[in-house]
Amino acid sequence: MTASGLPQSYSPAPAIEVRGLHKHYGRHEVLKGIDFHVDSGQVVCVIGPSGSGKSTLLRCVNRLEEPSAGEILIEGVDICDRRTDLDEVRSRIGMVFQQFNLFPHLTVLKNLTLAQRSVHGRGKDEAVEIARRNLAKVGLAEKESAYPAHLSGGQQQRVAIARALSMNPDMMLFDEPTSALDPELVGDVLEVMKDLAQEGMTMMVVTHEMGFAREVGDKLVFMDGGVVVEEGRPVDVLSNPQHERTQSFLSKVL
Ligand code: ADP
Ligand code: MG
Repeated sequence: MTASGLPQSYSPAPAIEVRGLHKHYGRHEVLKGIDFHVDSGQVVCVIGPSGSGKSTLLRCVNRLEEPSAGEILIEGVDICDRRTDLDEVRSRIGMVFQQFNLFPHLTVLKNLTLAQRSVHGRGKDEAVEIARRNLAKVGLAEKESAYPAHLSGGQQQRVAIARALSMNPDMMLFDEPTSALDPELVGDVLEVMKDLAQEGMTMMVVTHEMGFAREVGDKLVFMDGGVVVEEGRPVDVLSNPQHERTQSFLSKVL
């Protein structure tokens, strides 16, 4: 122990730590023992074929899905422990989906203030100020009065990111955030995510954007058939995949 009371080797717990995670639906085992972690400030990209369990893994991380076995620790706290305040843990995790999931009957600004007020109990002025700051950050300050249907898919996704950021999360989970977008709209969304990464946000990103993974990712994880087949520095995994399954997948997508 040091004078501060912390052990000499003290290091903060990973933002996300998954140990021996299994998930099955009935007899169908979708995750077959996943070990995986994301350090604070890291950007970890997850790739793999459709049906390999990427979304299920992401959804287990904030317990939108109930794990069948294993442990999930968020900043050192076991979210499967019944004593854990799940709402409190979830409030530290921002989530962005392939489908933007904005409330269609609410303006952009209202979309950004609603949960701030109901979950964080913020007053209207404070919530509006935070919302406007985050809209400016994603380049959509002038759209606060628009309804989602009047925005492009790329703009809607940037609003969804701004909405998640307005909750001041410690980390952000992205599930194929650009897969539903027309190709010409993908770049703006990736740019916002890159800015976020450069600010030091902890991010777990399921994506097919190999350029983003290579440029922005600190780690790349390749999943297939419910297991992590391979992980490493993006440049290494992409340029020199070690496993035949990784090679085969990359040869189809690169
Ligand atoms: P990915 O995101 O990599 O495409 P998913 O995690 O969505 O993969 O799905 C992995 C497997 O789990 C698929 O075979 C899928 O059909 C199955 N699955 C996902 N969600 C459910 C569910 N709610 N009930 C039953 N099977 C599911
Ligand atoms: Mg998926």
